[in-house]
Amino acid sequence: MDGIIANFRLHTVERYNLAYGTKFPTDNIEGTLSGDHFFTDKMPYKTHLDPLWKAPGFFLYLPVIKDSQQSIRNLSEVFDIVVVTAPYENSVTGDSDKRAWLNLHFPFLTKRIFTSHKYYIDGDIIVDDRVELAETWKKRHPDGKAASIKYPWTTKETFDIIGDDWVDLERQLIKLA
Ligand SMILES: [Mg+2]
Repeated sequence: MDGIIANFRLHTVERYNLAYGTKFPTDNIEGTLSGDHFFTDKMPYKTHLDPLWKAPGFFLYLPVIKDSQQSIRNLSEVFDIVVVTAPYENSVTGDSDKRAWLNLHFPFLTKRIFTSHKYYIDGDIIVDDRVELAETWKKRHPDGKAASIKYPWTTKETFDIIGDDWVDLERQLIKLA
């Protein structure tokens, strides 16, 4: 979900600034806080991030990534799409918040798997911005393709398909149907 349909990064920084009085920039967030583990060196996990992430409702208010709803709706007419998302284990309400979020923004995506071990999930294409996951998944699925939206860390060394945005990603993915 994060980086693909939900802007977990933006929501984290906005909530972080609000809670702790910091001024981390919220524009060009991918450029200024780059890397797919952006938070670890800038924001203390145990005292600051964990309390935010495990707060009831955190995952209910994630912003939707631009154009993802319409593009995925279009793609769902030709692909069998499964949402695979890693639970935040410390959150009691995280999974139900995510289900409610999906019901609100992606009601047509009814196949959902909650697991931290996404590389076990079979399929022809994985859409995820996490480099480590794309690599481990492709090891288990050598004929599969990894796709992502363009971020500073989603390079052609790892990803077979990179869309400038969802409209571009949709255009590239539809060719594989
Ligand atoms: Mg992600």
